[in-house]
Amino acid sequence: DTALAITGVHKRFDKVTVLKHIDLQVRQGEMLCLLGPSGCGKTTLLRIIAGLEAQTSGRIVQNERDISWLPPVKRDYGIVFQSYALFPNLTIAENVAYGLVNRKKPRAEIAARVAELLKLVGLPTSGEKYPAQLSGGQQQRVALARALATSPRLLLLDEPLSALDALERIRLRGEIRRLQQKLGVTTIMVTHDQEEALSMADRIVVMNHGVIEQVGTPNDIYERPATPFVADFVGKVNVLPAVALGQGRFRAGRLELHCSGERGDYAPGQAVRLYLRPEDRAVGHEREGQPNRVSGEVRKVEFLGSSCLAEMQIDELDGQALQLCFSLNQLHDLGIQAGARIDLALRSERIRVFPAA
Ligand code: ADP
Ligand code: MG
Repeated sequence: DTALAITGVHKRFDKVTVLKHIDLQVRQGEMLCLLGPSGCGKTTLLRIIAGLEAQTSGRIVQNERDISWLPPVKRDYGIVFQSYALFPNLTIAENVAYGLVNRKKPRAEIAARVAELLKLVGLPTSGEKYPAQLSGGQQQRVALARALATSPRLLLLDEPLSALDALERIRLRGEIRRLQQKLGVTTIMVTHDQEEALSMADRIVVMNHGVIEQVGTPNDIYERPATPFVADFVGKVNVLPAVALGQGRFRAGRLELHCSGERGDYAPGQAVRLYLRPEDRAVGHEREGQPNRVSGEVRKVEFLGSSCLAEMQIDELDGQALQLCFSLNQLHDLGIQAGARIDLALRSERIRVFPAA
């Protein structure tokens, strides 16, 4: 059920290596997000898949057809870019019809297909308008309809939501995902926005400096980051310098912490870093039976709407501050406010251990 197999794709621009031997299998019908910071090579990889850029070496096979060196028109995909890239002098209907006209489909068939697509993206009455008369979000819906017109087996999206305002972006996230699932079209979406990737993807590919750091479900990526980079880039994280004591125990400041999650093999004395998400703490009765009990003082509280992020100065950590997340109920019940003292437990099964740099 592999829709696209990328093997050893390497890309150099002059002397600069931008992609280093990328291996990636895209499954039939999945929504795969390429996630990473600006400049890490996401767009380059997408453009190589599209045939808009030539790889330096490596192979791409789509549904068992080797497309590695085929020109874009010989490949089977639809693409949407960040900037709407509609033809400004064509109507919305003409924009959507573009690929079908190129393929010399009969007029009546084109008209029916365009009507169907505009309905699909929620713009059934906009066919006679011009791009400039539509909002950014509407133009992206048209771009999506245009990309889907020829029923490609692969949909490529390069930061399709980045140019939109926050509300439109969140609305379109849901719409693109629903449409993708309804059509079952294999989709690769590039984004630098971790929230977008976590909320939309079946699987996420985290990239950094031209290499893949991790491939996994949103849950995998968040709960079990494979590398410090992934832990840092996706979600918030506290990093504690520590020294291994052996058998899952570590010393951080004056605190001896027990880590029962994946801890690797760290010899006593080895310098490590402990990664802890803001929600990986227990308070109130949840602390019962938990190791890693600590006390601290609340330094400041940041409201996030349905929860809050409190900066805690942990006594045993010799002044190191941790950012910890609490629900609004806990906020009230525990009296979490600047200056308050709180007892908590750092969840041993949630702490991840990585070697120090
Ligand atoms: P991303 O989409 O992840 O932000 P890109 O794939 O656009 O990253 O770019 C990756 C790297 O390749 C960047 O350092 C960029 O400057 C470089 N790059 C991209 N296109 C070209 C090009 N045509 N010529 C030279 N360097 C390029
Ligand atoms: Mg890009």
